[in-house]
Amino acid sequence: MLIPNEILIQELKYPLWKDKGIHLAIKRLDQVHSLASGNKFFKLKYNIEQAKKEGKKTLLTFGGAFSNHIYATSAAADSEGFESIGIIRGEETLPLNPTLRSAIARGMKIHFVDRETYRKKNDPVFQKQLTADFGDFYLIPEGGTNILAIKGTSEILQESDQIFTHIGTSIGTGGTFLGLAASINADQKLLGFSALKGEFIHSEINSKLQDFLILPKGHFAIMDNYHFGGYGKYNEGLLNFIRWFYDEFGISLDPVYTGKMMMGLVDLIKKDYFPEGSNILAIHTGGLQGIAGFNHRFGLSLPL
Ligand SMILES: *Cc1c(COP(=O)(O)O)cnc(C)c1O
Repeated sequence: MLIPNEILIQELKYPLWKDKGIHLAIKRLDQVHSLASGNKFFKLKYNIEQAKKEGKKTLLTFGGAFSNHIYATSAAADSEGFESIGIIRGEETLPLNPTLRSAIARGMKIHFVDRETYRKKNDPVFQKQLTADFGDFYLIPEGGTNILAIKGTSEILQESDQIFTHIGTSIGTGGTFLGLAASINADQKLLGFSALKGEFIHSEINSKLQDFLILPKGHFAIMDNYHFGGYGKYNEGLLNFIRWFYDEFGISLDPVYTGKMMMGLVDLIKKDYFPEGSNILAIHTGGLQGIAGFNHRFGLSLPL
């Protein structure tokens, strides 16, 4: 069993929202596990149990070279006694970045494939080939989103979180959003901030809600205008926000997911999106391991 640490909720006190009669708090999933951190802990939990039930010895999954999911899967596999294989999109660049180095240090076998091959990741023929190449494995999809992942992410909110009126989360593949959508109550509103560029995210999430038979009890909205140019893209404003947030609250945010979500929430507070008396819970989905890689890649020094 992956053992979770106790998850803290911290109130973020600041005049801008206090003056508007709004409370803002953050749920620190980044502290749920030292290695398999953030939302990835929840997404992996029941997949690991299932792999054990099926008697599998190896976990295989897909991701980009800086992927939090690759990092977390290697750590979870290592601590739970599995071999692991990471199919990585794109060409190998040396020296390997910190994400891949630590995945390898945890025993993950890294296999680079070109982008065209990578696109076939859900194709049964390609997956058969992977079995021929690597032997039997338990497959965890890219980003870790499947029905068992959603079972896990629907445990992020607990009974005591019923006091919140709004829940904010980042969206990548949507597995976290879907689990939250399945667990909000009728009086809560879930806000998802897409880390990817494009309006496709609305139909994508709606069709996944249907596929996974999720009927949210409360309301939800997806914000598609806080992607800062697209996945992995950033601007100076975002970096300054992340630095400001760290100085003010002592909490690190990553520039790919949580920084965008939190800057979006604060922007919406400024624009009076939230009625007076709102009690907002931001989900810190983790991803801190990616900051080192981001700094390394773009010559930045964001706080870790
Ligand atoms: C993977 C990840 C996300 C996206 O989660 P999905 O379930 O794919 O939407 C958000 N935040 C962080 C920090 C992540 O690592």
